[in-house]
Amino acid sequence: IIEVSNLHVSFGKRKNITPVVKGVSFTINENEILGIVGESGSGKSVTSMAIMGLLPKKTSKVEGEILFDDSDLLSKSEKELRKYRGNEIAMIFQEPMSALNPSLTCGYQVTEMLLHHTNLSISEAKKETLALFEKVKLPRPRELYGKYPHQISGGQMQRVMIAMAISCKPKLLIADEPTTALDVTVQKEILQLLKEIQRETKMSLIFISHDLSLVSEIADNVVVMYQGEIVEQGSVYQIFKLPKHEYTKALLASRP
Ligand code: ATP
Ligand code: MG
Repeated sequence: IIEVSNLHVSFGKRKNITPVVKGVSFTINENEILGIVGESGSGKSVTSMAIMGLLPKKTSKVEGEILFDDSDLLSKSEKELRKYRGNEIAMIFQEPMSALNPSLTCGYQVTEMLLHHTNLSISEAKKETLALFEKVKLPRPRELYGKYPHQISGGQMQRVMIAMAISCKPKLLIADEPTTALDVTVQKEILQLLKEIQRETKMSLIFISHDLSLVSEIADNVVVMYQGEIVEQGSVYQIFKLPKHEYTKALLASRP
């Protein structure tokens, strides 16, 4: 469904150019979960922002090819990309607060998203929002509909984000460290939820984390990034049994 080839991203101008993603390539098929692991600053988020077409045009340079259903996202206009975002590709972030609007109720934000991307009427969109809230296992959806983001817990916010992300039935969901800001029990719950939703919808999923154990619980294949490059790529089994790169070996050794 998506084929990233020789992706290069750099920031800055002329003499001050910093390359941060250096020739990254991977493929994700339908119904497949790719895990991306790597330390802070290794280029995981920049790679996902490049796929979303969300990197700042003025200060960044993106080269290579990102084929989504065989058409190159890098050659698309901002207007065309906007159609992909939300409809075909959705993303959830580490900090749900950064994507939720604090002055609008949780329910309203999801309903608005549905109204924007589908032909549903207002009452249908409201009903669909409640159904989505049930699907992401939010307690008392009707009550939650009218709550503002700051009135619910971090785990619940992340569930609202997931509801919003899947509302338009994307073919690909990018989850960029969706559980990092949460405590361990809630982390597991969110991971479980993403797994279930993926299984049900058969969407493709990119799950980003610096926690290899977490990634190995959900992913089919794993990419290990180190300083902007992919140093290891393969099935979870391969990564655990036959790590080639020193960084991967260190990662495995440092697991609790
Ligand atoms: P983390 O695990 O901390 O989220 P990451 O692997 O997601 O790390 P990125 O956010 O992809 O790391 O950042 C890779 C590098 O690119 C970093 O050195 C970062 O400072 C730089 N960078 C990211 N965004 C920008 C930007 N908009 N302008 C300039 N440099 C940037
Ligand atoms: Mg990141």
